[in-house]
Amino acid sequence: MMEARLSRPSEGGCVDCYLCAFRCHIAEGKAGVCGVRENDAGAL
Ligand code: SF4
Repeated sequence: MMEARLSRPSEGGCVDCYLCAFRCHIAEGKAGVCGVRENDAGAL
């Protein structure tokens, strides 16, 4: 899987995604609202 652009590591292993207006704050092992981008060990 390719690491996503427009994302930034956040506290506690979370990742912030800036690709769309939802601006998801994604916990490790979880996906954003879109269900496509997911946090895999701190990388989106
Ligand atoms: S919905 Fe998907 S693309 Fe939009 S901010 Fe959330 S994870 Fe990123």
